[in-house]
Amino acid sequence: MTVKCTRCRHQCPSSDWVNIPSKRFSGCTEKTCPKCGCRSYFDMTPQVAWCWASGLIEIGDQLPADAPDGGGAIEICAGPKFALKGTLAALARRGYEGQLLVPGVPEASGQRKKADALAAWLNWCAKGNGKKSSDGVVFSGGHA
Ligand SMILES: [Zn+2]
Repeated sequence: MTVKCTRCRHQCPSSDWVNIPSKRFSGCTEKTCPKCGCRSYFDMTPQVAWCWASGLIEIGDQLPADAPDGGGAIEICAGPKFALKGTLAALARRGYEGQLLVPGVPEASGQRKKADALAAWLNWCAKGNGKKSSDGVVFSGGHA
């Protein structure tokens, strides 16, 4: 996987990180940044997030195949693993059981209104694309 140092922001494969004897656990080794020696990193593994017609948002390595009933998942954003969930949690609505939902989609009636609600939310989220605070998360909106 690709990692990014939380201190100096050096980005490289995790295999480039240097094993050093742990100060905290004798006999163990720790991985450290090859540039600055920092021990904590961001997981830069690329992931995508998608939503279903119900408005439910899910995150994974790749977009799932269409459901047996023909309903397909729609990609909503992509970005590094460490940032994706936190970004979505800040922008999405929280369901009763902690699920992430696209605002306006669960209660919209009909495909057309669901699509409109999704597009409006994506366009709103896409305003953060490319900004430093987005942590590399890019939303699929902004085309309208
Ligand atoms: Zn570093």
